[in-house]
Amino acid sequence: MRIDVVTIFPEYLTPLRAALLGKAIDKGLISVGVHDLRDWTHDVHKAVDDSPYGGGPGMVMKADIWGPALDDVCTEQTRLIVPTPAGRPFTQAVAHEYASESHLVFACGRYEGIDQRVVDDASRRMRVDEVSIGDYVLVGGEVAVLAIVEAVARLLPGVLGNPKSHAEDSFQDGLLEGPSYTRPEVWRDLAVPDVLRSGNHKLINRWRRDQSLVRTFQRRPDLLESLPEDAFDKHDRAL
Ligand code: SAM
Repeated sequence: MRIDVVTIFPEYLTPLRAALLGKAIDKGLISVGVHDLRDWTHDVHKAVDDSPYGGGPGMVMKADIWGPALDDVCTEQTRLIVPTPAGRPFTQAVAHEYASESHLVFACGRYEGIDQRVVDDASRRMRVDEVSIGDYVLVGGEVAVLAIVEAVARLLPGVLGNPKSHAEDSFQDGLLEGPSYTRPEVWRDLAVPDVLRSGNHKLINRWRRDQSLVRTFQRRPDLLESLPEDAFDKHDRAL
């Protein structure tokens, strides 16, 4: 997979080359390009923003800078992702969608965001998604890109050491994952649940499923409500 990011703060994207993502790059599973939007400016101040039509506070990023930048970085096969709090929610299901793409390009907004015509124009040539990573407002799109790329990259074959690792994660079956424990058996008077040390995998699996259901009910009842009836077995319903 090829990932390109256009930003006015290229240094913000340094973590894309660290840890798990760095290893994926070394293995040739992903390649990453980070581009400074200011390279597409023509004036001495390298200005990328201007005041908003209609008035109001803040500045808007200019279409005549973003347009040529995206023309150079994108192709017709690109899936262009524009992080914005006004976008559709980024979820694990969307991460799976992106993991099947060959080329993702991210356009990082700053200030009040990017002139809407940039998205409208790009949509005439390629698939464009405006996505939000949550109901809060960040200063810029870079942190959103780091979150999205990490969620997508770990789904790519060969990136995680154990390919089964993400199969049991939260959201894979629509539920939150339950609690995990490791050695020591007792820590500060808190003991690991007996069942996990029983060696009985049928019981362990049932316990994990119950914990997952209870945690989802307590913390994210909206997830339970969106699951179809046949997602639950008779033990689940008895809980
Ligand atoms: N005026 C915009 C609004 O109210 O919708 C907020 C702009 S925000 C200060 C600047 C940039 O941060 C956005 O263009 C976007 O790239 C990024 N951003 C902020 N919050 C985000 C979120 N929840 N999800 C994704 N990107 C976000």
